Amino acid sequence: MTTKASERLGLLPPYLFAAIDAAKKAAIEKGADIISLGVGDPDLPTPPHIIAAGQAAMAKPANHQYPFGAGLLSFRQTVTRWYKSRFNVDLDPATEIYSLIGSKDGLTHLPLAYMNPGDTAIVPEPAYPAYNASILLAGGKTHYVPLLEKNNFLPDLNDIPVDILSTAKLFYLNYPSNPLSVVAPRSFYASVIRLAREHGFLVVHDAAYSEMYYDEPPLSFLQIPGAKEVGIEFHSCSKTYNMTGWRVGWVCGNADAVRILGRLKDNYDSGVFQAVQEAAVAALSGPQECVAEMRRIYRERRDLFVPKLRDLGWKVINPPATFYVWAHTPAGFTSAQTAERLLNEAHIVCTPGNGFGPSGEGYVRFALTVPTQRLQVALDRIGRMKW
Ligand SMILES: *Cc1c(COP(=O)(O)O)cnc(C)c1O
Repeated sequence: MTTKASERLGLLPPYLFAAIDAAKKAAIEKGADIISLGVGDPDLPTPPHIIAAGQAAMAKPANHQYPFGAGLLSFRQTVTRWYKSRFNVDLDPATEIYSLIGSKDGLTHLPLAYMNPGDTAIVPEPAYPAYNASILLAGGKTHYVPLLEKNNFLPDLNDIPVDILSTAKLFYLNYPSNPLSVVAPRSFYASVIRLAREHGFLVVHDAAYSEMYYDEPPLSFLQIPGAKEVGIEFHSCSKTYNMTGWRVGWVCGNADAVRILGRLKDNYDSGVFQAVQEAAVAALSGPQECVAEMRRIYRERRDLFVPKLRDLGWKVINPPATFYVWAHTPAGFTSAQTAERLLNEAHIVCTPGNGFGPSGEGYVRFALTVPTQRLQVALDRIGRMKW
């Protein structure tokens, strides 16, 4: 083939999970019994009442056509009601909500809608790799801000150069955080809103894990006064209802930003399959015991895994939210070396922390996406390793 891929594609770092997946597949081919704590994809099934709603909706001919645009009014009204009851936030379904093919769809198209070549976006890291990738694909530049344990994994806002703040188009936030698993306090969001007002950037909050918590329910960015003037929030049914494969989420908040992202998307895709939107309506407006049950299962896993890993000498953060465990690597080993040894010697897949950004060096991320018995096997294997 003589036709070359675009230079912009060449700007991308290798997709983190592709490399891990290749190593994992090679080990499986050699017959290894792999325990995968790598990719953050829930192992639990979608709750039956949501599947039933999706099946019924799929049979309706009206749903077989192009969905187009912001999404079903019933979907947007359901999101409005859910935001009101969960966060006491008011959203206008007509202008402040847009359906997405999973929140990744919106998060990764946003830079194309906002950034001119050479523009800057601020990304606190370690972070979801898709933010940086989509900024680069849009011709933009990523200004990384380190998230350090000594600052409770919040960005030090005073440490960001004023010329970056004043020229940045977008400022990404993600709490509860993947991969760090921490939540952010109200005062932090308030400071970001003040900065956004002063400098005129758009705050982009990824709230995909807002329902996967073990202590206080995390805040929505939009709960903080002034948020809607400067920002948008991305949400998803993926993690809350074990619906990663269904591909449904939404963006909400500032009406201008919602419209601008919608305008871009209207040129790329033709909307979220309406049957899937109806399933999302069933998820968000139906009984929420399934969400409590999801939290109970992950809590049980966390409460097994974290203390035992600590007993084995690992320095681990006990996550207040998400199904991730962010662990320091054993002394003398890099993130990559730790991940490699875990794979080769214990047949455990984890994610090297530096794949989420330079400040992730010295950590690995475990996703608690296997049942407790398998976690116990993983712990036994780790316990037999010598570091
Ligand atoms: C899983 C995840 C999402 C959700 O992605 P969907 O496209 O909604 O499935 C968004 N942000 C982060 C950080 C995630 O880990």
